[in-house]
Amino acid sequence: IAKTAGRNGFCQFIPAHQAAARARRELASDLREALANDQFQLLYQPIVRLDDLAVVKAEALIRWHHPRLGLIPPDRFIPLAEEINLIGEIGDWVFRQASHDVVVWNDARSPGSPVIQVSVNKSPRQILTGKSEEIWLNHLTESAIPPEYVAIEITEGLLLDASAEVVRKLEAFRRSGVQISLDDFGTGYSAMAYLKKFAIDTLKIDRSFVKDMLSNPSDRAIVEAVIAMAHKLGIQVIAEGVETEAHSTALSEAGCDFGQGYHFARPMPADAFEIFLAQRSNETTA
Ligand code: C2E
Ligand code: MG
Ligand code: MG
Ligand code: MG
Repeated sequence: IAKTAGRNGFCQFIPAHQAAARARRELASDLREALANDQFQLLYQPIVRLDDLAVVKAEALIRWHHPRLGLIPPDRFIPLAEEINLIGEIGDWVFRQASHDVVVWNDARSPGSPVIQVSVNKSPRQILTGKSEEIWLNHLTESAIPPEYVAIEITEGLLLDASAEVVRKLEAFRRSGVQISLDDFGTGYSAMAYLKKFAIDTLKIDRSFVKDMLSNPSDRAIVEAVIAMAHKLGIQVIAEGVETEAHSTALSEAGCDFGQGYHFARPMPADAFEIFLAQRSNETTA
């Protein structure tokens, strides 16, 4: 039961589900204004190559700065954006912003340093509906952005009802040189079947496996087996949720290619990431 002050000053009691529904409607209407009011921000979380700890990728993670409610994490508004058909517009904004930022970072790199690649998350609804692959690929061409600067993260959920249409869309990206990464690997169903059916470049082992790999032999075995299997299929592996040095070492020993997590860095704004990059490359060349 939620309590609100009525017009006459008395308290009215309204059922909680009604209050929740109203809050949701308000959030939806605020979300419709958020793009125009410049309330979204992208944070970037570094992804490091485990053999030399060089920063070579970053994942773009959206944030919503709500004027009254403050910072709202993506888990609380992306599903809503999907429901009210805003995910296409938001996704286009994310793609443009991230591909702009990644060019700035790469232009600032000293010659000979590895290319920095940015990955953007694409929710299932986003790829199933709309023409974003055409819009995004055109944007890269028009702005002369090298496609290898960009990767797209999809979740297994998307592939569940994988139609020929989805396969065609994913293939359009890959043919153009945009890599496809399978996110949260291991949390969905029949992950192996997907690997057989879809050509992907990278898979990201979900942090739930990484978290317990040092204390739970089964989790460690799963992580090691996934890495070995991926490599046999020519797929590179990113471990998510690397929170300690011990995890980083164990993953490196297991042959994992890349790591992402609080141990290396938290998500940060674009300018902070640029500074982070510059500092890290000084350290590795010094
Ligand atoms: P994800 O793609 O699996 O992103 C990784 C999430 O794990 C991020 O949460 C990140 O901040 C968090 N994380 C990173 N390192 C660690 C760690 O060491 N420990 C722990 N406990 N967590 C860590 P975030 O930013 O809240 O994003 C949540 C989810 O929202 C993302 O999961 C992704 O599915 C979705 N998302 C984020 N940005 C976008 C976007 O632009 N578009 C779409 N469609 N979805 C997005
Ligand atoms: Mg992701
Ligand atoms: Mg993930
Ligand atoms: Mg996730």
